[in-house]
Amino acid sequence: MLFKVKQEGCYIRRGDKNNVERLKDTLIRKCTIDKIANINFLWYYINVMKIENIYDEEIVMDTIIFLEPVFAERIWGGRNLEKFNYDIPEGNIGEAWVIAAHENGSSLIKNGDLKGLTLKEAYEKRPELFTKKKYDKFPLLVKILDASDYLSVQVHPEDDYARVNENGELGKTECWYVLDAKENAELIYGHTAKTKEEFNRSIDEEKWDDLFIREKVKKGDFFYIPAGTLHAIGAGNLIYEVQQNSDTTYRVYDYDRTDKDGNKRELHIEKTKDVTMVPFEKVQLEQEVYEVGNIKVTQLAEERYFGVYKIEVSGEAELTKNDTGNLFTVLEGQGRIKVEDIVYDIKKGDSFILTTQCNDCLLDGEMLLIGSYDR
Ligand code: ZN
Repeated sequence: MLFKVKQEGCYIRRGDKNNVERLKDTLIRKCTIDKIANINFLWYYINVMKIENIYDEEIVMDTIIFLEPVFAERIWGGRNLEKFNYDIPEGNIGEAWVIAAHENGSSLIKNGDLKGLTLKEAYEKRPELFTKKKYDKFPLLVKILDASDYLSVQVHPEDDYARVNENGELGKTECWYVLDAKENAELIYGHTAKTKEEFNRSIDEEKWDDLFIREKVKKGDFFYIPAGTLHAIGAGNLIYEVQQNSDTTYRVYDYDRTDKDGNKRELHIEKTKDVTMVPFEKVQLEQEVYEVGNIKVTQLAEERYFGVYKIEVSGEAELTKNDTGNLFTVLEGQGRIKVEDIVYDIKKGDSFILTTQCNDCLLDGEMLLIGSYDR
């Protein structure tokens, strides 16, 4: 017999200890009961009090939420996002916002009770489903970037600076996992100036070649870019990006490019000088790996705002949410995910959220995923 507290999307099977605990929590919240002393008491609430939202029917759960990305045309974009099974619009598409709840773009929920809402709307309605901590807005933003050309050389502010100067926006610390890179692909990561004066002078005199530090890139590389780091993704890179939920970018150099109407994009020289960390200090994160049965998990980052994990599956494997995050994208291969007895097909390009109502689940197939979570 299957029960459900409908609004909460929670269900229980007799004898399943995890679900009993979860239903207790739900009942305590819903019925404003102080606590449920024991299992008999729980059944008393369900059976005797006949709490009306409990049904013995097959149910739609909010344990896993699938998302439809939003796409953005960019001067530096291309057509490579088609490789992720996306039906992208015409033009140079630079960004797929695959897990997004920002006012400039929000992914659409494809299943469950929240189907049809944007992730931003869903988070406003039921934040406890998505994050254990309380935030004013959804904390992370996850994108796939197709850099067919260079992105502008840019920097992002810290939270405090963004709050004051950008209407309460968050700062932006981000990180990149390189999904694919052309031969000789590179990026700009950091600068050579030793002092603020030297940094400002190099910008005023446009000594870009001396100022920017360039690095070669290959598939599988990972870069952590704290707020205040000068950076640019180079041409020929396909990147999975996890970042704070912010859209604040200060451009310092844009290769003097113009759009189809002959306009250059705005630069933010003074703000760049304000927020760039000088001297530059490269952050190299330790990558811990653990392998259990058919799953190999590599910790890419476990930093101030987020944890990011690479998950390689070959066959059937248990996905332990606490070790890999709650936001996922399949980046290679295909297979299945089984959550609370329901099996979903998943393939390259699919993004999903395992909500706080989901415990562990099973993966099956040959896949590479990236998982992340807010910290
Ligand atoms: Zn950036």
